[in-house]
Amino acid sequence: MTHSELFSVSYLDARDRFIEALTPAGFAHESHTMEGPGGENNLLRAPGGETLTIDVGIRRGTSNEKAIVISSGLHGIEGFFGSAVQLGLLTDARWCDAAANHTIIFVHALNPYGFAWKRRANEDNVDLNRSFFRAGEPRPKTIEDFHAFVDILCPKSPPPRVDLSPLIAVWHIARQGFGKLKRTIPVGQYDYPCCIFYGGSGPSKTQTILESNAGRWAGDAAEIQLIDLHTGLGPWGTYKILLGEDKDRHELDVTRNRFGADHVEDPAVDQEAGKVFYPARGTFLPWFKTLFPGRTCRAALAEFGTYSNLHVLQSLRAEHRAHHYGDPDGKHAWTKTELLEMFAPASPAWRERVITGAKEIFHQAIA
Ligand SMILES: [Zn+2]
Repeated sequence: MTHSELFSVSYLDARDRFIEALTPAGFAHESHTMEGPGGENNLLRAPGGETLTIDVGIRRGTSNEKAIVISSGLHGIEGFFGSAVQLGLLTDARWCDAAANHTIIFVHALNPYGFAWKRRANEDNVDLNRSFFRAGEPRPKTIEDFHAFVDILCPKSPPPRVDLSPLIAVWHIARQGFGKLKRTIPVGQYDYPCCIFYGGSGPSKTQTILESNAGRWAGDAAEIQLIDLHTGLGPWGTYKILLGEDKDRHELDVTRNRFGADHVEDPAVDQEAGKVFYPARGTFLPWFKTLFPGRTCRAALAEFGTYSNLHVLQSLRAEHRAHHYGDPDGKHAWTKTELLEMFAPASPAWRERVITGAKEIFHQAIA
């Protein structure tokens, strides 16, 4: 199978291929069905009516010291890439053999609704990577400056084919500076359920499933490393390993030693334009670590670059307008095609490069 062929044409295709690859590689499979409000009488469905699931593959290590969790599709549509990486590892006998002493946990499609419907957000329009809060922890206030951007970011109308907003965006960047916009727009907002970067109002179904099961998946492992796969930030075909903002210097050093200093950004000094990192609230990584009290848990996000921030934001904005105010299955289906290209470019050269990069990461992770 070439690297390009690891990419599936739909969520259902990706799920089938993932499940099929588990047994030959020695992995046990479990499946978690996604329910909407009302529980099992209200299952979430793919465009063809099929139920949606988060699927997990687990293979226990020969030693119970270390576990690696490899997750995909937290941002729905980014699952096209994440699933390809998971399939690439599962069908790579050399990697599977080399990883034998680790417990390996593949979590396929953390946001199956977004994956199936080609959205970044989940079934409630929630950006899951802004939605992870502990029980009783209140959601933060939306950043004051965000309110001024809502009408520009999320107009309440279908997307036009020709859109002047890139010009508007350039004007704002010129006026405010890119660094400031990066600290305002993508950080997470909690007031506009139909706009982008919405962090929701309560725990997502994904969070509940993780909370109930992740401890069991990891077994007795004393050390757990999560690597959550993403695309859409950074230069074309390159990657960065990003840590949560709560990381300590020790974790940064360990991560840099393992994956190479060039690939690991330090959130403390890398907040300006040109860097991949941006601050956000309610992110997955620090929350995930809280599931393993008393154990060493390191959590990182592997982010692979595609198009420019502006281009990606523009496509997200158009898809949001189509989803909320247009006809995403008909007249505005182009917004889905465009969004898919933003997060899983069709270019065979890009696909070759990112799978090679991801394999490099996962060889380092088990070294
Ligand atoms: Zn992402």
